[in-house]
Amino acid sequence: MHSSQLSTKPVSVGSTVIGGKQLTIISGPCAIETATQIEQCAQFSKEQHCHILRGGAFKPRSSPHDFQGLGINGLELLMAAARQVQLPVVTELLDIRHLDTYLELGIDMIQVGSRNMQNYELLKELGQIQVPVLLKRGMAATIKEWLLAAEYIVQGGNEQIVLCERGIRSFEPNYRNMLDISAIPSLKNTTHFPVIVDPSHACGQAHFVNSLAKAAIAAGADGLLIEIHPTPNQALSDAEQALTFPAFKQLYEELQPLAIAVGRVL
Ligand code: PEP
Ligand code: MN
Repeated sequence: MHSSQLSTKPVSVGSTVIGGKQLTIISGPCAIETATQIEQCAQFSKEQHCHILRGGAFKPRSSPHDFQGLGINGLELLMAAARQVQLPVVTELLDIRHLDTYLELGIDMIQVGSRNMQNYELLKELGQIQVPVLLKRGMAATIKEWLLAAEYIVQGGNEQIVLCERGIRSFEPNYRNMLDISAIPSLKNTTHFPVIVDPSHACGQAHFVNSLAKAAIAAGADGLLIEIHPTPNQALSDAEQALTFPAFKQLYEELQPLAIAVGRVL
């Protein structure tokens, strides 16, 4: 019920505010691969009026044989590309030993990935700093567990948390995860944190992203995290779910009237 909705406390990331009337679009590749690839994504994201550039430098891959990311060098490429177009960045922190480097480089927002949502020592450390945190839902976490994870960060004094629904494990093998649309109104009823949705990791297939993104905005999400790639078929991670630039453009156009319909702006 709308009457029981709590007010959302906006979180600032660079010059962007997440959780206000304006929907926040986070875009970029799964992994930073080359300077050219991330520069192209940065340029495109800026042209498309996206608000935050994403890209992973430390990748939590299921297989140790798969591309693990460019590490610190990847972070440097991400920052250089983002600063050129004046966008803030969000990137995943996998290991607490890297935190100082993230802070030195001026990473604008730190992502805690699904696999680390219950890494409590990591969460406690993030409570000690004043950098916004994008806390993704654990793939098998209940909403209560997710909110308790956020509490770990808040307890240390950092209240700049944005929750990201990215799909949960289900028995259905036809898509990577199951997007929990109900999580959006549920969170809106129980927390002040802005809520964004990542349809890319939820479905795992580019041709599904559009529908899920629209469903998320219709359900009241404060924004979206979308994986894009200049040449998805050559992507080193999550190739199947990355949108081409033209596909993203189309999604953006379709989101515009929807945003207005739910009283938001894109
Ligand atoms: C990602 O954002 O690239 C990622 C690994 O996401 P998740 O933690 O949701 O799997
Ligand atoms: Mn990914």
